[in-house]
Amino acid sequence: MQSRNKLDISQAACRDSDVDIYHPSDQQMPDAGVLDECSRCMVRLECLALALRTEDPEVRSGWYGGFGPEDRDAIALSLTVPGGGQAPSEPVLTARRLVNDGWRISDVAELLGCSRRTVQRYLHSVA
Ligand code: SF4
Repeated sequence: MQSRNKLDISQAACRDSDVDIYHPSDQQMPDAGVLDECSRCMVRLECLALALRTEDPEVRSGWYGGFGPEDRDAIALSLTVPGGGQAPSEPVLTARRLVNDGWRISDVAELLGCSRRTVQRYLHSVA
């Protein structure tokens, strides 16, 4: 039986495709046909797992296993073990307080010197 941790590229639906079609510029989504093919790929789970293990959460881009950057943020977040015993960090507390006070995400990000995605992660973190 093939390991679920290894990506066998010979099974990839995109093996003969231009990788740029899975990484459109300007945060655009790939064509519906491309996404459909990616979502039905034989190695989509391994591909998704590889992306989650190796990509920088601050700069997620492209589609893997049919999942885009925002999807992978949500998946990574859901995989976080709750109740790790740590108190929320100062940036997490600050982000929560400011957003509760009506600040926009982009303004919070600018104040904290991080990306909007990081602020989103702070807001949804379990610690
Ligand atoms: S899931 Fe999509 S990006 Fe990943 S190997 Fe398959 S077709 Fe390529």
